[in-house]
Amino acid sequence: MKRILVSGGAGFLGSHLCEQLVDEENEVICLDNFFSGSEQNISHLLSSSNFKLLVQDVSMPLSIEVDEIYNFACPASPLLYQRFPIETFKSSVLGSLNLLELAKASGAKIFQASTSEVYGDPLLHPQPESYFGNVNPIGPRACYDEGKRSAETLFFDFHRQYQVGIKVMRIFNTYGPRMSATDGRVVSNLILQALQRKNLTIFGDGSQTRSFCFVEDTIRAIRLMMASPKEITGPINVGNPTECTILELASLILELTGSSSQLSFLPQRTDDPVQRQPSVELAKTELSWQPTYPLKEGLLKTIAYFESFLKKDVD
Ligand code: UDP
Repeated sequence: MKRILVSGGAGFLGSHLCEQLVDEENEVICLDNFFSGSEQNISHLLSSSNFKLLVQDVSMPLSIEVDEIYNFACPASPLLYQRFPIETFKSSVLGSLNLLELAKASGAKIFQASTSEVYGDPLLHPQPESYFGNVNPIGPRACYDEGKRSAETLFFDFHRQYQVGIKVMRIFNTYGPRMSATDGRVVSNLILQALQRKNLTIFGDGSQTRSFCFVEDTIRAIRLMMASPKEITGPINVGNPTECTILELASLILELTGSSSQLSFLPQRTDDPVQRQPSVELAKTELSWQPTYPLKEGLLKTIAYFESFLKKDVD
């Protein structure tokens, strides 16, 4: 049994991880200020004696003794982070600095949920970890991209200067139950629109690509990385290399929901990456991990989640 801090523990990924760690009888401290996380995601854990909720901003100093730290705290939705760029940058950079100081003081291993956004609008395809990326440092996505890049810098400097045990994972688009219904990510948006017989919003011409990984696969990779030997620091890409266009995603969602919704084309978003596909060779060799969920199977589980979410909303 370990004492584990999960910052951003009430978010989409954080709450799935908290659930597993609590089930395995670890003492879990969930740190969240509910900026993008939600109390609903963790309400079923609140009665567990080995789960504690700390409602606090990750950039505020903390003094607790822990064995492991997982850092997810940062809004990940372009809609939200572009509305609150300063808060986003602070949560990535000051939050990481704060947690790294904590890891250094308590000798804890620390995991950083980094992102495919560190590659920006990539000119190399698929993206290996050795690629330095193509990021606009002053654009509307920079608060997130540069915030996460700076966080990676801090992680590696704490590792080199103070030998802190770091685990940096670059997570590509993940989807599944408990995605926020309001933060405008493409999978949740299109499923909700299809279920509600509304037009499916497509930004640009829908030819841009993403590679979608089901949440269970991502969480398994995160656990494997935390348990890996100390010399495995990352960065390691985690995602599903099966790439699809947004138009292909929309038509699969229409087919699986049996919806008769139409497509509605809206202006392309500024600096929206044109293509994104992870190279996961490193995850295969260093973590013996590969994704197991085909898109169709993961989407069916996600559709079932949003169906019951909408039903609860009505009841
Ligand atoms: N997108 C879309 N319709 C939506 C939401 C998103 O066409 O309702 C597009 C968006 O422009 C981007 C892709 O889907 O090209 C993925 O967007 P998301 O916000 O989910 O994540 P990103 O990978 O951009 O961080």
